[in-house]
Amino acid sequence: MAKKVCSFCGRSEREVPLLITGVSGFICNDCAEAAYQIVQENLKSNSASRKKADFDLSMDELPKPVEIKEFLDQYVIGQDDAKRYLAVSVYNHYKRLQQDKGDDGVEIEKSNIIMVGATGTGKTLLARTIARMLKVPFTIVDATVLTEAGYVGEDVESILSRLLQVADGDVKAAERGIVFIDEIDKIARKMDNPSITRDVSGEGVQQGLLKLLEGSIVNVPPKGGRKHPDQAYIQVNTQNILFICGGAFDGIEKRIAQRLNTHVVGFNSVQHTRNIDKENLMKYIQPQDLKSFGLIPEIIGRLPVLTYLNPLDREALQRILLEPKNSLVKQQVKLFAMDGITLEFTPEVLDYIVDKALEYKLGARGLRSIMETLMTQLQYEAPSSKKKGEKLVITKEYAQSQLENSVLQEGMEGS
Ligand code: ADP
Repeated sequence: MAKKVCSFCGRSEREVPLLITGVSGFICNDCAEAAYQIVQENLKSNSASRKKADFDLSMDELPKPVEIKEFLDQYVIGQDDAKRYLAVSVYNHYKRLQQDKGDDGVEIEKSNIIMVGATGTGKTLLARTIARMLKVPFTIVDATVLTEAGYVGEDVESILSRLLQVADGDVKAAERGIVFIDEIDKIARKMDNPSITRDVSGEGVQQGLLKLLEGSIVNVPPKGGRKHPDQAYIQVNTQNILFICGGAFDGIEKRIAQRLNTHVVGFNSVQHTRNIDKENLMKYIQPQDLKSFGLIPEIIGRLPVLTYLNPLDREALQRILLEPKNSLVKQQVKLFAMDGITLEFTPEVLDYIVDKALEYKLGARGLRSIMETLMTQLQYEAPSSKKKGEKLVITKEYAQSQLENSVLQEGMEGS
């Protein structure tokens, strides 16, 4: 056998603390460590470039609007209009990023979206679901935390810091990203409070946001947080960033109704009014309703795609319990299956849960809290008291007994 020396550095067995024997050579501990470092660095840079490649777009690979909607359908029940608008906007966003600003002089402009719909109807769910299939950096921010620069809270620039974080600090990738701004209605101008001299969380924030929506170069503090005089800024161009806004706009139906009524008095045909679906006025929403709610016209102008979410009726709530890929019922069944217990819900109990959710007026959000209240006791006992292979049927009587003693119910009675 050859002399025992490290095949990498050439040192002999005596010169190194440890020499590892291979099939046809040796490696010392120092060289093994150095090799490990090299492997690590290589893996890191590979994964960085893979990440970048994730954000690379090619028209052929992109999901078409119909495919995007089909994907959304797996998780979100109903809301077809909102899904279609969202699918088209995202697809157009991809197209815009691909366009060559060549000889024809035609430049596709971006179309930010605003989705209006009562709480718990699926706005955030839509945004989160679409994020799963996106090929660009995506982040969700909450407009309620935004304040005018200099006040307690976050400056609007913090939105871009988040996007930068998602893009692993890659400014180019962030500049192609999509931002979902939730609760945009919370920064509406508070018109009925004239005593406020400075509307910290209202118009000032809208002005700040406008800068982002319009497309400009914004100085972003690197790690979010507050601005500091000697902190170096990162410049981010928001021209290609797509903004999707969502809000409940509580009470906007009244304004829509008012507007529709004044139309009736005007020259609009009587037939027009006869067809109005009074249960769902949201679908008649127009930009001027947003203005009368307190969004400044400049902001509205920068959110050209306006769409709405339907209130969830009995049928929709029922479907939400059962159908989505990770529906509440499917989740419970899985939880119990992991203990070897077969869980079933009777049709009556499902009706009962829906009744209660309608009563609580929290949209589909109510379903979740009801389900939790209903199942906690069983989740506690069943793993010990039930044997593997046993079947557990949840009946309406059981649900009633659980809910009637719960804090949820007390909250309802108090309200
Ligand atoms: P919001 O409109 O207030 O943003 P969310 O999207 O946060 O409402 O909905 C709250 C929860 O209710 C979601 O996590 C989801 O489980 C359920 N949900 C709401 N709307 C739908 C829907 N259309 N389809 C399926 N689940 C829904």
